[in-house]
Amino acid sequence: RPEFVRTALHELPPAVAERIAAGEVIERPVSVVKELVENALDAGAQDIRVEVRGGGLRLIRVSDDGYGIPAEDLAAVCERHTTSKLTAFEDLERLHTLGFRGEALASIATIAEVTIQSRAWETEQEEGEEQPAYWYTWRGGLVQGHGRKARPHGTTVTVTDLFYNVPARLSYTRAARTENGHIVQLLRRYAVGYPSVRFNLALDEHTAIQTSGSGSLATTLTELYHISLEEMLQEIDVSDGEHYRLRGYLGNRVLAQGSRQYITLFINGRWVQSRVLQDALEEGYRSLLPKGKHPLLVLALEVPPDEVDVNIHPAKTEVHLLQEAKIKEAVTQTIKGLLERSPVVPEAVQFP
Ligand code: ADP
Ligand code: MG
Repeated sequence: RPEFVRTALHELPPAVAERIAAGEVIERPVSVVKELVENALDAGAQDIRVEVRGGGLRLIRVSDDGYGIPAEDLAAVCERHTTSKLTAFEDLERLHTLGFRGEALASIATIAEVTIQSRAWETEQEEGEEQPAYWYTWRGGLVQGHGRKARPHGTTVTVTDLFYNVPARLSYTRAARTENGHIVQLLRRYAVGYPSVRFNLALDEHTAIQTSGSGSLATTLTELYHISLEEMLQEIDVSDGEHYRLRGYLGNRVLAQGSRQYITLFINGRWVQSRVLQDALEEGYRSLLPKGKHPLLVLALEVPPDEVDVNIHPAKTEVHLLQEAKIKEAVTQTIKGLLERSPVVPEAVQFP
């Protein structure tokens, strides 16, 4: 007979269950930034400002000029499973937004203090009537206060005291420099994935990233790395007219780096860490790059929404592709074809 101590089966108090669930979605400060930026993109924002202090533990603030949250919804956005993006399970098959679970804000509000200020845009019927601006504050999942306060259209979410009630997470969080590094990488990825959105990132009041939202990926890359890369990049745009369209930019051999952080993959507008795409592109580059070197590359794959399953990972960074083999082959062949024709330039470019 095994020795064990077993407590009787019982339901967890909601506050405990919430805190445990929150940990799945929010691993470290950059997870908060990711969820807030995705919400801003889902709200159609053209201008997204991110402010971070103390590596994200002291403050994370994301402001957008998106469609805002109507006053009647604001009180409920931090409740678990409240979303404006999905109603039926089948909606997952035609998803056009990055969010769908209605869990991010609830999770963040459970393990931090969150203030949301928002002013919704007027609908066509409401033209001429200004929507009032409201704010709400939560801490540990409980409302602390709310009121009205004038502001421009859009939303600002401020998160302070992250992990104040999750000591294990707090001790897992690294030095501000490390956490800032993750945040910079994330914002670079979204900036290249959404070149027509203006991004600004301030770390402890210093501007780390500023893009113009010009719509051009080459311009965005120049703005991010402060070197003109246009001549070293090749554009891809291939499609089988049915299952996939693959667009992006490949850096040629001179842009090879010792880190994978310059590889950015998007599937249907969602930044992913797809093993399948990663393998396919390494295969494509294999004969061209020395071992341990990785390309600069931005690939955006578009597939019909019902051919991708986004619901397999709490942080939504992994997805399943229905036409996996076909897409893998297309990526490898496209890369090979393009690179074979690219000129060899002797000097390597090192990124900041
Ligand atoms: P999800 O994104 O999965 O719906 P979230 O918890 O991230 O869940 O957000 C809950 C809801 O709050 C969203 O569905 C949306 O209606 C609203 N929301 C959150 N952030 C914003 C924003 N920046 N602009 C407009 N609405 C927002
Ligand atoms: Mg969301």
